[in-house]
Amino acid sequence: MDSIDKLVAILKNFPTVGSRTAGRFVYYLMKLPKERTDELIGAILELKNKIKLCEMCFQPYEASAKEGLCNICSSTSRNKNLLCIIEKETDLASLESTKKYNGLYFILGGTVATMKKEDIDQLRIEQLKNRIKGNNFTEIIVALNPTPEGRTTSVLVEQTIKELGLSPALKITHLARGIPVGGELEYADEETLESALEGRK
Ligand SMILES: [Zn+2]
Repeated sequence: MDSIDKLVAILKNFPTVGSRTAGRFVYYLMKLPKERTDELIGAILELKNKIKLCEMCFQPYEASAKEGLCNICSSTSRNKNLLCIIEKETDLASLESTKKYNGLYFILGGTVATMKKEDIDQLRIEQLKNRIKGNNFTEIIVALNPTPEGRTTSVLVEQTIKELGLSPALKITHLARGIPVGGELEYADEETLESALEGRK
């Protein structure tokens, strides 16, 4: 495999990038001056070296003095009784951009199409149990995408929470409709997301 094919093969695995776009990226990179490609390589290495996953919510964050926790989990102004379970990092960014949610998050790391063990093992279910146990959450919002996988995963998450035998006062809520069926949080506009968050039940 020559260097062009090799790079195309790597880039085409990026989200939303297919072979054709990957090819365009490679030709763009070929035209870049050497110092710009060095800059890119440096930035990727820096990302790998500096970014860690938050121990509580699994959000990637730049490791700093507050070792182990991201800026949301270590913040004193967030409501620590409220937990929002989401699929991925970009959903966190979308919800944060509404500025209507002041609780904490938990990134599940994906969704499942079936309840098979090998699928479930891809998710952070054990970490979720540990996160919820021994913490006084009054409300847990299951904010997964309204796709078939998202719904299957919501059922799984709810079962998991119920099996923990927590206080009956704990509310488990969902985002209100407004997110189009089959749609994804990542692509919802701020207003839609805001009303889905406010109308949760
Ligand atoms: Zn965190």
